[in-house]
Amino acid sequence: MTAPLSSRLRGFGTTVFAEMSALALATGSVNLGQGFPDYPGPREVLDVARGAIGTSADQYPPGPGIPELRAAIAGHQQRFSGLTYDPDTEVLVTAGATEALAATMLALLEPGDEVVLFEPVYDSYSASVAMAGGVVRAVPLHPPVDGTGPWTFDEARLRAAVTPRTRLLLVNTPHNPTGKVFTSEELALLADLAKQHDLTVLTDEVYEHLVFDGARHVSPAGLPGMRERTLVVSSAGKTFNVTGWKVGWICGPAPLVAAVRTAKQFLTYVNAGPFQPAVAAGLRLPDAYFAAAAGDLQRRRDVLVAGLAGAGLPVISPEATYFATVDVRPVRPDGDGLAFCRALPDLAGVVAIPTVVFYTPEHADLGRHLVRFAFCKSDALLADAVERLRRLG
Ligand SMILES: *Cc1c(COP(=O)(O)O)cnc(C)c1O
Repeated sequence: MTAPLSSRLRGFGTTVFAEMSALALATGSVNLGQGFPDYPGPREVLDVARGAIGTSADQYPPGPGIPELRAAIAGHQQRFSGLTYDPDTEVLVTAGATEALAATMLALLEPGDEVVLFEPVYDSYSASVAMAGGVVRAVPLHPPVDGTGPWTFDEARLRAAVTPRTRLLLVNTPHNPTGKVFTSEELALLADLAKQHDLTVLTDEVYEHLVFDGARHVSPAGLPGMRERTLVVSSAGKTFNVTGWKVGWICGPAPLVAAVRTAKQFLTYVNAGPFQPAVAAGLRLPDAYFAAAAGDLQRRRDVLVAGLAGAGLPVISPEATYFATVDVRPVRPDGDGLAFCRALPDLAGVVAIPTVVFYTPEHADLGRHLVRFAFCKSDALLADAVERLRRLG
């Protein structure tokens, strides 16, 4: 029998996340691989979900999402990015950010259309481009030379990645796995390019609130002339510590959102009935909640970054997100981050993810020596991880 996997999905077999999580389980290691919090979300949000179960909220919600949630999403966009969206025609609730991204690819791409994105890249992007018959054009992000300063990209390489077949520019800011927040200058360059080549911009902003040290998240949609060509994706998972709820959304001009809705209605149609009013309550929380969430995570970042540095691993401290990146070369002179991750459970009882898996083979050398650790973990778990990492020293 020939292999059952379609040619579109060839090469997307099993992920390193599955391998590393299995390794954590088998070795009793602290799992700093996958990015999910081990502490609960805000009570005001959880209580609404509990109260909604057993009511009519258990049945199919309206296709675009319940009106209360769409209004709360529009209100949240207005409050934090100053952008106005019509809840009825310019907001769509999705099964997580993941479905919003996949539905956009399916809605907008013709076979052979190209999507320009930055790598290292969140793992679902390339797969969803492939499922839609599109082609990825990856522009590499370069790690800071001496471990400090921002990740950067080469403007000429970005310009060269845009061809007559380019349909979408996909930007993830704040960025997973690097923790980079794209600067105003970088976003202005992307905006110029999009306008010059008449591209649609798709932005993944799921870490919009988890930004540290006074850095500021700017939505590319807010730049001059960009709202009309930008689809903004975000999600409740990271903002409210509920990654398993899979409540996401997409905002943009009505014709683009209508196109995405057409694809979305035949993927899941709807999802997360009782969670929709709960996320609406979350999005209406006062500014203080969002500031505290960032401050709390910044403190966790500082604990892990200090622990990693103490273990002799040079750390690229992130400006945002759930993740810190280390250079393994002081511990592994061959610079093999994947081998480091496979050995780490035995060496120290900790699991992490090799950054190389977030690069296409073409640019894998750039991330070969780097490893990603998640710090969205309880104080007790982080303290345990830091203690274990000392064994490396
Ligand atoms: C976690 C994550 C997602 C997935 O969001 P869901 O709402 O769980 O689908 C999408 N993009 C990035 C960059 C992420 O880190």
